[in-house]
Amino acid sequence: MNSGKLIIFSAPSGAGKSTLIQHVLQQGFNLEFSISATSRQPRGKETHGKEYYFLSADEFRDKIAHDEFLEFEEVYHGCFYGTLKCEVERIRETGKNVIFDVDVVGGLNIKKQYGDDALSIFIAPPSMEVLEQRLRGRATDSQEKIAERIGKAEYEMTFAPRFDKIIINDNLKKAQSEVEQLIRDFLSK
Ligand code: ADP
Ligand code: 5GP
Repeated sequence: MNSGKLIIFSAPSGAGKSTLIQHVLQQGFNLEFSISATSRQPRGKETHGKEYYFLSADEFRDKIAHDEFLEFEEVYHGCFYGTLKCEVERIRETGKNVIFDVDVVGGLNIKKQYGDDALSIFIAPPSMEVLEQRLRGRATDSQEKIAERIGKAEYEMTFAPRFDKIIINDNLKKAQSEVEQLIRDFLSK
């Protein structure tokens, strides 16, 4: 059945999840991006309801208290991120498959809840040096935030073997075609 399936992308920040997801969304698969909620501030041109639902810390806590999250994590100090149950239900009800950009813990958590209906993909950078260059090159975060993300990346890399598939995002074209193939196979099952 080509609907209601879940495709999860997790990786250390800067490995290329957003870039690969944007590519996948343009390939005509029956997919919609699950917009997460976060208590962090918008970066650059990010807008509410597009990249994220930007909530205050109090609004986020209120949703936790009302059990509105499928999963949530304090991914970075003081910054909460979570998948809203209503977001996933909304997409599945339209007969589409759902694609997620979540941290490694959230990714494994969603996989655990959905089993064979979910495909968990870990995006690995070719090396820590390249990861650092990409975070600096993206130029969206402060020096302090970049340091926090790099600091967490090595720990996040240890989660890779627990995912269904690992894609090394070195050459972008190659990674894009590998991801496309994985998704095509998964959705045709
Ligand atoms: P994430 O969503 O995992 O945090 P991004 O998709 O924002 O990562 O990618 C981080 C930066 O690296 C961006 O500036 C992006 O353009 C760049 N990038 C992504 N993939 C590659 C690649 N294969 N080669 C070179 N640069 C890349
Ligand atoms: P960023 O601040 O770069 O947008 O995202 C930081 C991290 O939070 C990334 O690893 C991203 O995948 C993760 N993230 C985004 N949304 C969610 C979510 O809903 N749940 C979890 N657990 N992590 C998320």
